[in-house]
Amino acid sequence: MAFALTWMPGVLLEVGLRVAEVPGWQARGHAEMGPVRGVMIHHTVGPANGNMPSLNTLVRGRSDLPGPLAHLGLARDGAWYLIAAGLAYHAGKGSWRGLTAGNTHFIGIECENTGTAADMPWPEIQMNALRQGVAALLRHAGCDADACIGHKEFAPGRKVDPLFDMADFRRSVQAVMAGGVPALPLVPAAEPLTAAGQAGRPTLLRGSAGPFVMELQRRLGLSQADGIFGPMTEAAVRRFQRLHQLVPDGIVGPKSWAQLPAAD
Ligand SMILES: [Zn+2]
Repeated sequence: MAFALTWMPGVLLEVGLRVAEVPGWQARGHAEMGPVRGVMIHHTVGPANGNMPSLNTLVRGRSDLPGPLAHLGLARDGAWYLIAAGLAYHAGKGSWRGLTAGNTHFIGIECENTGTAADMPWPEIQMNALRQGVAALLRHAGCDADACIGHKEFAPGRKVDPLFDMADFRRSVQAVMAGGVPALPLVPAAEPLTAAGQAGRPTLLRGSAGPFVMELQRRLGLSQADGIFGPMTEAAVRRFQRLHQLVPDGIVGPKSWAQLPAAD
């Protein structure tokens, strides 16, 4: 059987977002959902590296709380993971506009982030996907931007997620819903083939790993060139991009590669 939220990928794909289905997600849930009254945003407090390292926990749960723990997981690169179409344990005790059954009435979105000041601000590619995705989900559910709340607003004092300002975020969702904000390109183009027909350098972003990341780190002058594109590397990329009048998105595409100095 399938639960009620099987419409989610359709509305996300329709606005150009990337989705990845966790096998069995349509039938995953603790019960059927009630009427959707809004969406609730969380951060995972997961590992600092990797694109969506918390996914397995969100699907299976923890020793003290069985999964699913969210309907959707939002990766650092802006990809949406479909986890559950039925009720998920994400809200816990709380209330919003007199509504206390958070799990029954809110779509729970867990965004990959350590939940620390060091992991702020979130990568813009992730924030953009969140804005666009939340707007699409709310529109389908017949809700307005006010129906997008943070876990910290549902359970103040008990929860702090997400760390960013929710009033600002709702304004940006409202702008998307009003049609005034064109979707940003979600994944920048990689370098074209070289004259020799070889693939150019790949586009790198947080979660990337390998020799090209090591090269990037050396060219940024980082003391630790470990080949893992984590928050420190992203922060350094953003600093470099700001200095060179590039979009400080923390993503190393053709424009950033072209401006990076040779390694010492
Ligand atoms: Zn939360």
